[in-house]
Amino acid sequence: MKKRCALLMVVLLTVILTACRSDSSINIDVPLESDETEQFFAMDTIMSISARGFSVAEAISEAKEEIYRLESLLSVTDPGSDIATINSETGHAVIVSNDTAAIVTKANEMANLTGGAFNIAMYPILRSWGFTTGDYSIPSEDTLSELLSNIDYSKISVKADTVTLPQGMEIDVGGIAKGYACDAVKEIIVNKGIKTAIINLGGDVQLVGSRPNGSAWRIAIQDPNGDGYLGTISAIDKAVITSGSYERYFVGADGKTYHHIMDPATGRPAQSGLLSVTVVSDSAYKADALATALFVMGREKAIELWREQGDFELLMMTTRGDVYITEGLEDSFEISADYSGANVNVVSK
Ligand code: ADP
Ligand code: MG
Repeated sequence: MKKRCALLMVVLLTVILTACRSDSSINIDVPLESDETEQFFAMDTIMSISARGFSVAEAISEAKEEIYRLESLLSVTDPGSDIATINSETGHAVIVSNDTAAIVTKANEMANLTGGAFNIAMYPILRSWGFTTGDYSIPSEDTLSELLSNIDYSKISVKADTVTLPQGMEIDVGGIAKGYACDAVKEIIVNKGIKTAIINLGGDVQLVGSRPNGSAWRIAIQDPNGDGYLGTISAIDKAVITSGSYERYFVGADGKTYHHIMDPATGRPAQSGLLSVTVVSDSAYKADALATALFVMGREKAIELWREQGDFELLMMTTRGDVYITEGLEDSFEISADYSGANVNVVSK
């Protein structure tokens, strides 16, 4: 098994926050703008937040606290979390925080939007493959068909501040939590009056504004086939979120590779012909859930949904090595030199 930090695709190709301080000997009483970057570990991944402005250290520390708070509510493995309590008390209405109720509601909206390709009730199936512990194995057909009979997400009930699951169902919001956290952190940073920041939660990137000089950020997208990058996307104020089969996988006793994005139709790793999907959107939770779901759905259905929705853009790489971008990325996507021979198809409405 290999868990390549999905991340740090955010090769900041240019120096992000170049120092530009006003002269303190002149502006004695004027608070100074500063640049701050903090890196930390949360939600099972490496995170970093960089910002420029006034009181940035305070804003970043508040943002970090918010991420830890969300993690303590949403972690499926922490027995005290809302999610773990919901899972252990199936059949009962469990009182949860506003954030937990909101994320479960949003997850189910995304499930409806994607025809069930995004499904937080897949947790027992992920466990049967060993993705929850790292103790991997291939479940039998019988095990899978039994588990598949209890993943009907429409039976998850959210009423006011309670969540109720049917007997035996368990949920995991890991496919949407980092996106949700990006949205929350962005709000904290923007509310502090900070106009330029880059939030990287394990490769799920949320941009605040532009670079300090007003130009777009350039985000490097991980090469699904190697350690380099597939290309860059230039963007301002957007969430840029990628899901790929390369992020977490194991090789079974049969010599085949099994990855962590499950197709709720089969209970097996999705084999839709895609290696990675990047979603660019104003909404990070949406981009996060969509990246996972569109990976399951495959290129054609992903494009169909893009045509219907119109509030996100896509970059996809297929198992055959072809690259597809939706037309909104035509001017902002640049393929890396490693892929200069690749076929980049621009999809129009
Ligand atoms: P990561 O969290 O590794 O960056 P994703 O956002 O793509 O990647 O989420 C993948 C995680 O979502 C899996 O590790 C698993 O916990 C969960 N998951 C897997 N398949 C699905 C699915 N079809 N719907 C919702 N969540 C899923
Ligand atoms: Mg996701």
